[in-house]
Amino acid sequence: MGGATLLKETGPREVFCGLTSIVWLHRRMPDAFFLVVGSRTCAHLIQSAAGVMIFAEPRFGTAILEERDLAGLADAHDELDRVVKDLLARRPEIRTLFLVGSCPSEVIKIDLARVAERLNSVLKGQVRVLNYSGSGIETTFTQGEDGALKALVPLMPKSQEDQLLLVGTLANSVEDRLIKIFQRLGIKKIASFPPRQSIDLPTVGPGTKVLLTQPYLTDTARVLKDRGAEIIKAPFPLGVEGSRLWMEAAASAFNIEESVVHSTLEPLILRSLKALEPYKEKLSGKRLFLLPESQLEIPLARFLQRECGMELVEVGTPYLNRDLMQPELELLPEETFVMEGQHVEKQLDRVRQKQPDLVVCGMGLANPLEAEGISTKWSIELVFSPIHGIDQAADLAELFSRPLHRRQLLNQKNLATV
Ligand code: SF4
Repeated sequence: MGGATLLKETGPREVFCGLTSIVWLHRRMPDAFFLVVGSRTCAHLIQSAAGVMIFAEPRFGTAILEERDLAGLADAHDELDRVVKDLLARRPEIRTLFLVGSCPSEVIKIDLARVAERLNSVLKGQVRVLNYSGSGIETTFTQGEDGALKALVPLMPKSQEDQLLLVGTLANSVEDRLIKIFQRLGIKKIASFPPRQSIDLPTVGPGTKVLLTQPYLTDTARVLKDRGAEIIKAPFPLGVEGSRLWMEAAASAFNIEESVVHSTLEPLILRSLKALEPYKEKLSGKRLFLLPESQLEIPLARFLQRECGMELVEVGTPYLNRDLMQPELELLPEETFVMEGQHVEKQLDRVRQKQPDLVVCGMGLANPLEAEGISTKWSIELVFSPIHGIDQAADLAELFSRPLHRRQLLNQKNLATV
C-alpha cells in the first residue's frame, strides 16, 4: 500500500457515541422508530442532539431504565415490554422498531437480540423489531448507522438481478442527483440502502454491485458481501476528483464505455472546478489537523490537500479499514501522518505544538481550542451537510473556509481594539 504513514494510538477518547446517528436515520426512514434502551444521559443526548423533533411527533425515544429496573433483569424486561406496547398502541404507523443499546453496565447485561426475537414473535409481523448497539464504549457516532444498516441486511429480499446499490444515508436531493447521473451513464437498475421507507428494502444477491457513499459502513459492507454482493472499491464521493473516481469505478463495474463517462461527467467537472476556485485561494497553503471522530477524515483530507492545496499536519481516524480505505490512502502524499485511534491528551499536545490553521474535531474539543486561538470545524456538521458529489465540491470547501474567515475577522477586530 503506497501513500501515507499509518500509525496507531490508544487512550482516552473524546467522541460522540453511536446514538447520535439516530438524528439522521429517523429522518431518512419515517416509518421506523428508534427506541434507545439507556439511561437519562442517553435521553439527554438524543433530545438535545435532535431536540426540535421532540415537539413534533418524534420518531425516536428512550426507554429509561430506572434504578428499580436495574435491580433485577426481570424488571428491565418487563419495563421494556411495557414501553414497546405503549409505543405501538400510540403509534400504529411504526413498521420497524430498532432497539438501540447503550453504555450503562445494566443495559449491556440485557440481551437485546433476545428481546427483539421475543417481541417479533409476539407482534407476528405487524412490526419488525431489530436491535443494534449505539454504546459509546463500542462506537463513534457514525458507527450507529453501520449498526442499524447491518441489522436490516438479513431482511433484504434475495435476487440475482444486476443492480447498482448505493449504500449509506445521503440527503435526498443529493441522492436524486447522483442517481440521475448513473442513469445517464446507462446503469439500468439503481437502488438505495437505507431506503426512504424501512419496509421498502432493496434486494441483494450475486448481481448486486455495492457502491458505498460513506466510509464508515465496514460491517454493513461485510454482511452485504456475505449475501453475494460485490463491493466496488473506489475513493469516496467527496470533492470533484473523489466523486469522479467513485462514478468511474461504478461505470467500469457495469462495463460502460469510457467515452460515455467522459462526455457525461466533463461538463459537471468543469463547472465545479470553476466554483471551487475562490475557496482554493482561501484554503491553499493553510495547515490542517483532523482529530478522529466521523471516519470521514481521510476522504476529507484527500480532498482538501489535492483539490484545495491545504497542508496536512495529521489525519486522525477512529478506525481504519485498510481494505475499503486503500484507494483513498493511495491518493495522500507519502509523508502524511494517518493516526488510527485516539489518545486525546497526546493529540491535543500535538495540536498545540504544531499550531495548525484549522482543526477538524468533535464539539467537545472545539470550544477549548477556539479559546486558545485555534480555528475549528465540527466534524459532526459534515455528516448533516449535503457534501457528496461533483457539484457539491465548492459547498464542501466553503465549510472549511468559513472558520478561517471568521478567525481573520476576529484577529482584525482584536488588532483594531489594541
Ligand atoms: S450510549 Fe453511553 S455515551 Fe452515549 S449517551 Fe448513553 S451513556 Fe452516554
